[in-house]
Amino acid sequence: VAESDSTSQSGTRSAYRPDRFSLWRELCSRCGRIWSLADRRWRCSCEGLLDLLGPQVDPIDRGATGTRSESSLERYRAALPPGAGDVDLGLDVTPLLPVAPEMWVKCEFEHPTGSFKDRGASVMIGAAAALGVDAVIVDSSGNAGRAVAAHAAAASMAATVYVPAGTDAAKLAAIAGYGASVVEVPGDRAATAESAQRRADGDAIWYASHVHQPLFHHGVKTLAYEIFEQLPDPAGATVVVPAGNGTLVLGLWLGFAELVAARRLVRPPVVVAVQAERCAPLTGRPPVADDPPTAAAGVAIPAPPRAAQIRAAALGTGGGIVTVKEEDILSAREELGRMGLAVEVTGAVAWAAIRASRPTPARSEGAVVAVLTGR
Ligand SMILES: [Zn+2]
Repeated sequence: VAESDSTSQSGTRSAYRPDRFSLWRELCSRCGRIWSLADRRWRCSCEGLLDLLGPQVDPIDRGATGTRSESSLERYRAALPPGAGDVDLGLDVTPLLPVAPEMWVKCEFEHPTGSFKDRGASVMIGAAAALGVDAVIVDSSGNAGRAVAAHAAAASMAATVYVPAGTDAAKLAAIAGYGASVVEVPGDRAATAESAQRRADGDAIWYASHVHQPLFHHGVKTLAYEIFEQLPDPAGATVVVPAGNGTLVLGLWLGFAELVAARRLVRPPVVVAVQAERCAPLTGRPPVADDPPTAAAGVAIPAPPRAAQIRAAALGTGGGIVTVKEEDILSAREELGRMGLAVEVTGAVAWAAIRASRPTPARSEGAVVAVLTGR
């Protein structure tokens, strides 16, 4: 019996072609070891966090074709990892709405599964499919699990989502609705992550983590490209985002750094990361003991694994970390609703910081953008 042709094993899925991945490498942030994406690692053998390095390209340059696609994946494909765009549920450029003089909201709740996590999931799952992955596991408090489950379904991959016990029933139903297996884990958010990691390692299932897989951050960086293209004066702007595991901060940092390298910007916009006062580990203060510590579930992350990177990225733009009070988050959400913008509690965190008029250290003269992350 002849050995099966490796290119025909995965049916219609694009088979792994080494040349597509040769320009992309994973670098250990602890020991400096370099891995190939084909190694399918979620962390280094030294347990260090991995970052992803790709070729230096101008993300905005669309070459001779000059395509003006409203599909975000299509528009920026040259700057994205291999497989980006292969799994696309309709990831369009989201609206940037002016809501006051020099004040804008970026409507990230208008993605296929309702949050910015679709940016990361589409690119990450697209790359995984190109690597021949057929099953993924992820831990999530809600939105990332939903985004990964949807994109895995679209790629005909089996998905298992570990969630903390007590996760919002509507979010669980949404994840299960995509055919994913949902496993509730007792304990805090870190216990959920550890369970998923043990299962991923034990059963050799690809760990589709929005925290650990740097592919995810390279999907979120498209947010930076869009803000750059949509704002009249992006160089002088301040972008305010909620921060839990910091995927938005890290994605914006990647995207803006690429735009600076391509000489589209002389300096990155200021990125201000907002945490709930009751759970603000990035400020160095321990979270309150309540479980959950804040109603903003998406930023209720007591110990973000990439905390040092998140702080460095925000500070590297001239920004920093600010906190908002619980009651200010809830009233900001009500105010957004009265503006016609229905978001979940976490989605109002950035607006709460701006309402408190202290997205400091913002540049006072420029535009301010609040990223409304999910519905
Ligand atoms: Zn290492």
